[in-house]
Amino acid sequence: TIILAFESSCDETSVALVRNGAQVLAQSTATQIQSHQRFGGVVPEVASRHHIEQIIGCLDDVFQQTGLGYTDLAAVAVTYGPGLVGALLVGVSAVKAVAFAHNLPLVPVNHMAGHIYAARYTAPIEFPAMALLVSGGHTELVYMPQENDYQIIGETRDDACGEAFDKIGRVLGINYPAGKEIDELAHQGKDTFNFPRAMEKEDNYDFSFSGLKSAFINTVHHADQIGTKLSHADLAASFEQSVVDVLAEKTVRALHNFPVKQLILAGGVAANSGLRTRLEKECAQIQGVDLLEAPLKYCGDNAAMIGAAGYVGFKHGNRAGMTLNAEPGLEFPWLSV
Ligand code: ATP
Ligand code: FE
Ligand code: MG
Repeated sequence: TIILAFESSCDETSVALVRNGAQVLAQSTATQIQSHQRFGGVVPEVASRHHIEQIIGCLDDVFQQTGLGYTDLAAVAVTYGPGLVGALLVGVSAVKAVAFAHNLPLVPVNHMAGHIYAARYTAPIEFPAMALLVSGGHTELVYMPQENDYQIIGETRDDACGEAFDKIGRVLGINYPAGKEIDELAHQGKDTFNFPRAMEKEDNYDFSFSGLKSAFINTVHHADQIGTKLSHADLAASFEQSVVDVLAEKTVRALHNFPVKQLILAGGVAANSGLRTRLEKECAQIQGVDLLEAPLKYCGDNAAMIGAAGYVGFKHGNRAGMTLNAEPGLEFPWLSV
């Protein structure tokens, strides 16, 4: 079963051909990060324009790489939300044209389900599972009692944790997106600042990162005012330790309360080495729970993950027609208790 998948929710235009939701036959991705760097973040209008310019090239590219054609496809899949509306519409329009012209089933995919299914390229997902989704726009714990079933049990009340990495990066003069560089910097420093760990001991699965971000920014500005030079490595290490501590604390709490076989770590921030190391240690201590980490190359936005999640949706009969629209605020349902 070969699925053609499209991703255009934010700042990467990506198209992939995926077999059985488990094997990437080809992927073509055009990143626009450089166009957004001088603004310090993604500019929606600029993003939409780039997607329009790039998407047909990516599409041609995956067919050229494989020698496959439309008659080889079982279905087409696309991210229809959450994300930037103008950006999403480019992928949604392209996929509708392909589905209509070639009379193919159209599978609508939630971008966050895509992030979770990036882990499928490491190993098969076993249910029930718990996913810690950490990305530029989301920080949430998602319970998956069975395949094709996603239920939020907790999320950030303010900033997403990737967003916090990017914002404190700006204060240190690091280009957007700052996560990877802060991760590297953190390795050279120590947690000397002991920044707040918001909501760490609260009996829920929610997160908050705006207080940490403010504490960080205030510390740097105060030092500037009094003319002290702070170690960027220690600042980065302290920030990262605080983030990792609260993510680990809430995740472990969830793993004790939900009988799952796997913890899936996914989303752009899942590439963070401090977070990976910590969750590897935590999961090794919880009997019956295996950690499944998305491969580094599929942590950020890509169409391969949409093809993997799309295959699951395809099997379960998830279908959209020509009325499919972008849903910028698309969310998983909350677990009702
Ligand atoms: P969403 O998926 O919520 O819609 P998004 O698609 O913009 O948002 P992703 O592409 O999944 O987000 O992730 C990008 C984020 O990951 C950025 O905030 C970036 O700084 C962060 N990031 C990437 N690598 C690392 C790392 N090694 N450590 C920490 N953060 C990282
Ligand atoms: Fe994403
Ligand atoms: Mg991104």
